Amino acid sequence: MTGVAAGPADTGPAVAPPAVGPGPGEADWAAAVAAVRGLPADARVLLICHVNPDGDALGSMLGFGLGLRQLGVRRLQATFPGPPEVPEPISGLPGMDLLVPEVDADPAPELVVCFDAASESRLGGLVDRLETAGAALVLDHHASNTRFGGINLVDPRAAATSVLAEELLTRLGVTLDAAIAECLYVALTTDTGSFRFEATTPAVHELAARLLATGIRPGDISRRVFDTRPFGAVRLFGEVLCRARLEPAAAGGHGLVWTYATLDDLTRHDQRPYVLEALIDSVRCTAEADVSCVVKQVRPAEWAVSMRSKGAVDVSRVAVALGGGGHRLAAGFTGRGTVEDVVAGIRTELDKALIEA
Ligand code: 5GP
Ligand code: MN
Repeated sequence: MTGVAAGPADTGPAVAPPAVGPGPGEADWAAAVAAVRGLPADARVLLICHVNPDGDALGSMLGFGLGLRQLGVRRLQATFPGPPEVPEPISGLPGMDLLVPEVDADPAPELVVCFDAASESRLGGLVDRLETAGAALVLDHHASNTRFGGINLVDPRAAATSVLAEELLTRLGVTLDAAIAECLYVALTTDTGSFRFEATTPAVHELAARLLATGIRPGDISRRVFDTRPFGAVRLFGEVLCRARLEPAAAGGHGLVWTYATLDDLTRHDQRPYVLEALIDSVRCTAEADVSCVVKQVRPAEWAVSMRSKGAVDVSRVAVALGGGGHRLAAGFTGRGTVEDVVAGIRTELDKALIEA
């Protein structure tokens, strides 16, 4: 949940700016505004974010949903694929009453809006709504986004999907209130690593200022979202960090540090899988490695892999080669086999993904 987006700003070699396409043009914004304004009075709107939602996915979706509610959209649902379970740290967001389990999501809404999903595969069983809905709008900031909507507001330079959500809400005439702001603030802080990553531009701080001006309390929010975990998770982290391995020769000599956590680890410490999402932030501190990796077991031979780079390697290339996606400095994929099989695949792809300084 933490540590997505562009990686730490203070370490790693200088690298060329990412080769990313332009953000949405005026025609895209106009089409998105028209798609919402043109809805009939009793229109059904379905909001979808990516599987295993993080702060940006859920915060952007719920913040946007609360904005639509302010505009008078009443038949409104928000959902995501998979088990209807939200990580505890983001389960207290305003607008949670909009959430419905995937099975209860409207089969053919007038409008579907997708948040923070780079590709259709991130929508799981809800992907059919792109066909059955009257119109499909995509808000995202992944460079690898496939523009799978009818209308695409995709900006790879945006620090978070919430940046696009806020701009669209503003263009729709929504007034930021504290509830909307809390959702968007959680989204923004999640994806900027609390304003530490490279994507933290002046515009990001200006957006944060607009959100804080509604009266939300950043200390309370950050403690709840980033700095609170069960004691069992603290002990689990200790164990998993103890088994971390450093491979200085990997990634063309830039170094790889990695560790893994099994389902048995979770059971022994009586923890839910989401607690492992913050682990990468402890592993990526390793000074001797450019690339860091946490391999998290989700089924006996299936692993959710989180990767980070400080700038020498484009880990989204590694992730895409292995069936996943993400950003240049923060990416992930689903690995199969044993931990060793998964890490062997990563070692092989890392050397191909070196960024020319
Ligand atoms: P995290 O490591 O925090 O789960 O994810 C880092 C980044 O990689 C996020 O931007 C996320 O969208 C992307 N990502 C993580 N896992 C996957 C995956 O299995 N498939 C795809 N396409 N992207 C992923
Ligand atoms: Mn995001």
